[in-house]
Amino acid sequence: MFELPECVTLTGQMNETLRGKVVRRGRLGNSPHKFVWSNRKPAEFERLARGRTLGTATARGRWMLIPLEPGYVLVLGECGGRLLYHEPGATLPARYHLLLQFVDGSALTVTTQMWGAMELFEQGKEQERKYIKGMRPTPVDKEFTFRYFSGLVDELLKGEKRSVKGLLTQEQLIAGLGNSVAQDIMFRAGLHPRHPIAELSPAQRRTLHSAIVKTVREVIARGGRSDELDLFGKPGGYERIMSSKTADRPCPECGTRIEKIAYLGGTCCFCPKCQPAGT
Ligand SMILES: [Zn+2]
Repeated sequence: MFELPECVTLTGQMNETLRGKVVRRGRLGNSPHKFVWSNRKPAEFERLARGRTLGTATARGRWMLIPLEPGYVLVLGECGGRLLYHEPGATLPARYHLLLQFVDGSALTVTTQMWGAMELFEQGKEQERKYIKGMRPTPVDKEFTFRYFSGLVDELLKGEKRSVKGLLTQEQLIAGLGNSVAQDIMFRAGLHPRHPIAELSPAQRRTLHSAIVKTVREVIARGGRSDELDLFGKPGGYERIMSSKTADRPCPECGTRIEKIAYLGGTCCFCPKCQPAGT
């Protein structure tokens, strides 16, 4: 799943490589996929995309907004998998869920693994789409201050009980995060995934806010996670500290064996010494 750092990396690369290219042919997938959401029929998508020019793409949380000028915006949201650029003459993947072929012979394909939105909106209407409309601040937004974050925690305390992992991964409370980056954030903050947010001390709130901002910025600076590919099929430069790959290995801080649990929709790796339960 592309999280915010991958969306920032991919849109940045699209702007360097694809901006200004004119669509010769746009196609929704040649491989039907139950969990790919589109708001257009294939023929309609093809008709609307043809002849339009790629504008400046932006990342918002786990969503990418790519203008097809004039008048339209292609929205790729909650995707994971491959979003790849193909030089003129290159062989395209056998299966894809979205294809844009450009008049210069180059192409872009999107192939998602689990699910994802691939939608074409009239410009401006994308802002009304569920999940984009009302999206909470992401860790790279200037609104994501400690004051804002602490207020969010206070607001959540009025509702159902929630853990730190729940805060980081559920309902896009912190837009752009997902299960991958969240594990490193919890390690850096020294917090157990099940730690109740109601029991965060003021100092732990500070540490957690700082870990969120620093980790997301670092992953972006390194071009995304090494377990995701960029626009050119190259892995990102950020090696995760806590992942299924590092489970059972020694913690880089203290040498304790890294544990892996299934918790809140997905595995979660943590160091039982650096991230003790019930503190
Ligand atoms: Zn440790």
